[in-house]
Amino acid sequence: PGHTRVPLIAGNWKLNLDHLQAIALVQKLDWTLKDGKHDYADAEVAIFPPFTDLRSVQTIVAADKLKLAYGAQDLSQHDSGAYTGEISGAFLAKLDCRYVLVGHSERRTLHNETDEVVQAKTAAAVRHGLVPVICIGETAEDLEEHGPSAVPVAQLKAAIDGLAPDADIVVAYEPVWAIGSGQAATPDQAQQVAAALRSTLAEVLGDEAAQRTRILYGGSVKASNIAGFMREPDVDGALVGGASLLADEFAGIARFS
Ligand code: PGA
Repeated sequence: PGHTRVPLIAGNWKLNLDHLQAIALVQKLDWTLKDGKHDYADAEVAIFPPFTDLRSVQTIVAADKLKLAYGAQDLSQHDSGAYTGEISGAFLAKLDCRYVLVGHSERRTLHNETDEVVQAKTAAAVRHGLVPVICIGETAEDLEEHGPSAVPVAQLKAAIDGLAPDADIVVAYEPVWAIGSGQAATPDQAQQVAAALRSTLAEVLGDEAAQRTRILYGGSVKASNIAGFMREPDVDGALVGGASLLADEFAGIARFS
């Protein structure tokens, strides 16, 4: 079972950049990723802009035939109806989103998203043909109390409950203590949890799913520390916050230089 998974470098813009700024960054990013030698390197590159940017991103990606993938930072667990302020997976699919983040720690803490909500959103994404990037990770207190893998494994189990074995998903392991802190996990820590998560995928969805599914590390990833993570056998890419807002830095991560 070698390392046949195509690496995924994903940029979570969070609440940054309006649609005009998004167009500018997409153009600069594409130009930087196509520097002649590399042409997007060997990774799939995806961005997750705010909802209101997605139509503009779709237009420029389609018009200029960019290799960039994109998705939303959240979706509703519902398909339509009286849910003021919500955005359905159907709308995201119409905008040619390939991915959608689900269960980011900021959604879990600031918007009270429980494991049940994350499970429902994961199912909604799959139902609409989107690939959910399921975000999981332990807090510093969790780490102290339960050790490195227990909480992320439990969160993953809850999120993928009821999925078909052939469901296309991505898992993003993001220790809460490493997000936006400048203090990334070590490659060794990331590998240890990623291996436990892959075993969980095998247990719940089967071996084929476990071998095929990409597991990302996230939390203070930069161009200067990505290489160590990418050398680990069970880490297949990164989910990048702050450093994804700068074209040169994010392109540097996508080349794992
Ligand atoms: P960070 O954020 O790279 O700024 O730490 C990662 C994330 O929240 O996805």
